[in-house]
Amino acid sequence: MHLSAFDPPADELEQLLAAAGELITELIAGMPDDDVLGHPRGDELIASLLDTVPGAPAPLDEALATLRAVLATGDHSTAPGELAYIPGSGLVASAVGELIAQVANRYTGLPGFAPAALALEASVLRWLTATFGLPERAQAVLTSGGSMANLAALVAARDRYAPDAPHLATVYVGAHAHASVRKAARIAGIRGDHVRVCPTGDGLRMDPEAVRVAIKQDLADGLQPIAVVAAAGTTNAGAIDPLPALADLAAQCGVWFHVDAAYGGFFRLTQRGRARLAGIERADSITLDPHKSLFLPFGTGALIVRDRDDLTRAFGEDADYLRDQHDPVADELPDLGSLTPELTRPWRGLRLWLPLHLHGVDAFRVALDEALDLAAQACTDLRDDPSIELVGSPDLSIVTFRGPGGDREQDALLAAVNADGHVRLSSTVIDGRVVLRLAVLSHRTTAAEVDLAVARIRAAAALSEPDGWR
Ligand SMILES: *Cc1c(COP(=O)(O)O)cnc(C)c1O
Repeated sequence: MHLSAFDPPADELEQLLAAAGELITELIAGMPDDDVLGHPRGDELIASLLDTVPGAPAPLDEALATLRAVLATGDHSTAPGELAYIPGSGLVASAVGELIAQVANRYTGLPGFAPAALALEASVLRWLTATFGLPERAQAVLTSGGSMANLAALVAARDRYAPDAPHLATVYVGAHAHASVRKAARIAGIRGDHVRVCPTGDGLRMDPEAVRVAIKQDLADGLQPIAVVAAAGTTNAGAIDPLPALADLAAQCGVWFHVDAAYGGFFRLTQRGRARLAGIERADSITLDPHKSLFLPFGTGALIVRDRDDLTRAFGEDADYLRDQHDPVADELPDLGSLTPELTRPWRGLRLWLPLHLHGVDAFRVALDEALDLAAQACTDLRDDPSIELVGSPDLSIVTFRGPGGDREQDALLAAVNADGHVRLSSTVIDGRVVLRLAVLSHRTTAAEVDLAVARIRAAAALSEPDGWR
């Protein structure tokens, strides 16, 4: 039997996998004690990497040494003290599933090629639509991330409500909508100044009345409102827009209701999250990011659309060279090439399927519940401190606050908290003021890291009180 020069013989392959396994084992074992920050930037390494052109084959040991050197540098967002931005953690079971999927390299862009492989992915897609309470006609698809899911949703909304006049289409977002929504609108041919940023009622959440007024005005001006985009929750503060009222409004105005739940969506698995996300099941489409609130490695988002015909209208195409690929047996399977902008795609299903099967859904429920508990505890502890001002109160697992002083003092506070690298917080701007954020979302984060962060915050805030330096 002839092996391609690229397919190593069994003993070499075993060696390769063993070496990779050793490195992965090392990484995972080191994570609980790892720091987020404080690793070398790797200036020399960067320079030498940029200078290296691939050429003659090099031994495995050399490649592994380079990898180990790279992995010792930069921010380690897999560390349990990662409380900045929207933490992503990376499930090893998902990575192993991905390795298998990539080696098998089954073709899932069309339903006829590897129907069972596609059925495995479809089982996860059905779980997604059922979890979010959408009907049978709904269709979930996996994307590379939340930005692509938002893009596909806006294209579908445009093609339903303004197929021939994208220049007249208007979209309504909250002041804290993720930048990817504006980007999606622009890519979809919607004018930047037709993305209406509607005022927030309480500083953090969209005010449905403001949206109603804006839609009315646009209709009077001859424009074509196509979509209301709610956040559940916002990247800034984890705030959930008033979904039931916005769903009512979208229905009354005859526009698409999109919920960007890239950060917060999977909290629906928990009892508290389910209550707080009530109304999400009325969406025309929902953006999710399994690489955020399902702890997957970066590269997996999801979109659920209430009526799969909307996706087919937006993304369906025929091609002569695919004429022999109409498999009636595969009719119950999704034709992903006609439901998404992609044709050839990685077999993404395994990334979710393997962790869900190995850990069970309950493990995710428990981990997300713990994130809610930890954020609530941090909120209580910070509220107890008179030198700290909470900004809003958390709907999910992000706590936003300010220490004493102005914006410059907030930057200094952040630097002090992050100084030794055990924990990392980040900042944002809310209502024109710099605000610090503590976001709990990594499955590795425990009470130890959150308590440490709170202690650092309180100590640094006490020092920055006007009389704290005496
Ligand atoms: C992260 C995020 C996005 C963008 O998702 P990516 O996976 O980074 O492309 C969109 N919306 C919200 C609310 C987010 O938090």
